Amino acid sequence: MTYLRAVAGVAALLSVAAVGVARAADKVSLSGDISEGGLVVGQTEPGAKVSLDGRPLRLTPDGMFVFGFNRDAEKTATLDVTFPDGTTDHRMLDVTRTKYKIQRIDGLPEKMVSPNPQQLARIKRENGQIIKAREADIDGSWFAQKFIWPAKGRISGIFGSQRILNGKPRAPHTGLDIAVPVGTELRAPAGGVVSLAQPDFYLTGGTLMIDHGHGVSSVFIHLSEIDVKVGDVVKQGQKVALTGATGRVTGPHVHWGLYWFDNRLDPRRLLPAPK
Ligand SMILES: [Zn+2]
Repeated sequence: MTYLRAVAGVAALLSVAAVGVARAADKVSLSGDISEGGLVVGQTEPGAKVSLDGRPLRLTPDGMFVFGFNRDAEKTATLDVTFPDGTTDHRMLDVTRTKYKIQRIDGLPEKMVSPNPQQLARIKRENGQIIKAREADIDGSWFAQKFIWPAKGRISGIFGSQRILNGKPRAPHTGLDIAVPVGTELRAPAGGVVSLAQPDFYLTGGTLMIDHGHGVSSVFIHLSEIDVKVGDVVKQGQKVALTGATGRVTGPHVHWGLYWFDNRLDPRRLLPAPK
């Protein structure tokens, strides 16, 4: 939004206030999925203070903000906005349940392949780097772009699915798997800043993270080549890596995880229908 448009917007809001009616609802708009795994982009007055469940949200200079809901989020969330003139908007959001694909497999032999202590220590260290990158809250409104497919291929794994083996629930799958041959070009689904670029993590192999701003980030794993480095600003559609089958995989594919801080979101919902 340009400065003049912002001024005009504020003037319009002031004239509403002059009528003497609280029209706070008009000053906050939300778009996206208010549901488990959903990402929501909001727009309000520049300079407002916004919080979700008490957590302050960063605002862009033109009043945009973003939040998301984890795979198993609480049923309700509270959004609070305090406008520059001191008036407030308080609203409860009903977070829609998502039905996940649950697969039960019983009668498996009770034999498990477990990493040894050295490998476990390495996994913990490497996960720590991913967690640290997810915690960043940087400026930039790339999160509001219309996301594009990072690679074209068959969807081989969906968000939120879970397997229950011999009655024991395994960690849910919290990303989107796209089956593509090793060496397929991976393109940034939205712009951002590269926040992690590691060629060889134990579980995730070649691992790349892009920070889309305001706590929204993408992780791509099992890559065979990474063409960018930490701190690089990438444009939407830019080639950033080649897909592979590195780390612990059963076959070549790229796994795309989307986060709002530590909340796991469904990338598929941000994408257009596959062509
Ligand atoms: Zn996956």
